[in-house]
Amino acid sequence: MVGSGPNGLAAAVTMARAGLVVQVYEGADEIGGGLRTKALFRSDVRHDICSAVHPMAAASPFFREFDLPARGVELLQPEAGYAHPLRRGPAAIAYRSLERTCAELGADGARWRALMAPLLRHSEGLVDYLLSGQRSLPRDPVVPLLLAGPVLAHGTGLATSRFAEPQAAALLAGVAAHVVGRMPTPASAVVALMLGHLAHGSGWPVPRGGSAAIADALAADLAAHGGKIVTGQRIGDLREVRGARAILLDVGPKEFLAIGGPLLPDRYRAALRAFRYGPGAAKVDFLVSEPIPWADPRVGRAATVHLGGTQREVFRQETLVARGLPGREPFVLVVDPVAADPGRAAGGYRPVWAYAHVPNGDPVDPVALVTARIEQFAPGFAETVVERRALSAPDLERYNPNYVGGDIAAGAMTLRQSVLRPTPRWDPHRTALRGVYLCSTATPPGPGVHGMAGYLAARSALRREFGIRTAPSLAPGAGIGGVGGGG
Ligand SMILES: Cc1cc2nc3c(=O)[nH]c(=O)nc-3n(C[C@H](O)[C@H](O)[C@H](O)COP(=O)(O)OP(=O)(O)OC[C@H]3O[C@@H](n4cnc5c(N)ncnc54)[C@H](O)[C@@H]3O)c2cc1C
Repeated sequence: MVGSGPNGLAAAVTMARAGLVVQVYEGADEIGGGLRTKALFRSDVRHDICSAVHPMAAASPFFREFDLPARGVELLQPEAGYAHPLRRGPAAIAYRSLERTCAELGADGARWRALMAPLLRHSEGLVDYLLSGQRSLPRDPVVPLLLAGPVLAHGTGLATSRFAEPQAAALLAGVAAHVVGRMPTPASAVVALMLGHLAHGSGWPVPRGGSAAIADALAADLAAHGGKIVTGQRIGDLREVRGARAILLDVGPKEFLAIGGPLLPDRYRAALRAFRYGPGAAKVDFLVSEPIPWADPRVGRAATVHLGGTQREVFRQETLVARGLPGREPFVLVVDPVAADPGRAAGGYRPVWAYAHVPNGDPVDPVALVTARIEQFAPGFAETVVERRALSAPDLERYNPNYVGGDIAAGAMTLRQSVLRPTPRWDPHRTALRGVYLCSTATPPGPGVHGMAGYLAARSALRREFGIRTAPSLAPGAGIGGVGGGG
């Protein structure tokens, strides 16, 4: 295994639980990839360096069976999944309670309910299908029908006429913007429907103490099943791990070309080169002395806040950034982990996590942009900032080679690339090299901490290289070779 992000670790756990000897090589000095939590300014306040909020870890088939809570990882739920303040009028809030959300959305309450309630009734089937890589028919046959209408309504030019008030329209646009690309598109609508409904279901939790708790639980399970991890060892050439019967790479196409390029057939190499990266992110970690002074105090009930203005502004800004044009008012995501985990505050200080969407590779220092954006909706925020640390889009790539040009989705999430990632193949995890598999978010089901790319790649490698067709159990306490129900 090369790389120990959530997918690398999920793959390693799956292989080790099937009874194989697993060795993980991680280039960074710490495990976890996008799951690291560190003190940046004071030893007692820890900041999530990449992922912070985990709707997919709470819902994905891999983590449902792995059972994070049973392993001591508390997934703490804020009162609201996400919030979207506006310059004029009240903010829109996606509470855990669908009823309360609809009640506060006024004239659009019934429309929000009509959109979300059917998805919630079929949530497991929907999530399983979208996070499965979509290579087989959905187990819940209603799922494609459930998606078709809303994708047409919210993933095309029709999107601007679906709601009566700016609040509901902005609320959905903000969650769709997690696609980080041109909007509205069918891909952005699918993301909005999936993440949007989860806020009213299994939630948008933060792990107590920070995201590293998830990596630690995976690493502990791997160790319990005999797997080993070496950190600080970047694999610069695939031939360094030649002895292994199966090699799983938690890397994207660019890194794969760098470490295995000369070994790859020309056509496959060309297909990897054709993989497109999306816009970048530029991140700021703040240490603040007060809760964020949101103009609408209800925003503070959510851990995740989308700052993008109205639906029209979100669509315009995201589309500009996707075309490589920077804007003065970028879409900014803010996470206040203390909203769900009061223990993250210490000594009168709290961490605030934020990033702006910027053009791929844009070297802009995001501190001024992000601070000004938060100030628009929380006047006085700048005065609460004690320390700040910026990571520009190129810095993010230096931090992790998978985030090419700062693209934290490890590849543009167009409709084509959300399914045919990174090259058009029936088994997207298998590469043109015998025994070598890709398992990062550059493969289906795409970005986020869900473990599914790793799990699916491991299942493919188990089948093809070892003839193991039965899924190993992932449940806590199951021994080596335990058989699970995951199909
Ligand atoms: C700023 C930011 C915020 C995010 N917020 C969220 C969020 O709130 N919720 C969410 O679900 N997702 C979020 N994400 C996305 C999420 O972190 C990623 O989708 C996820 O971590 C991808 O997992 P992965 O295992 O595919 O790869 P990664 O987590 O990128 O891990 C890959 C690992 O492989 C290692 N590696 C790469 N090349 C080599 C090599 N040649 N040799 C050895 N090791 C190598 C890297 O060092 C890294 O540790 C965020 C990402 C960023 C950057």
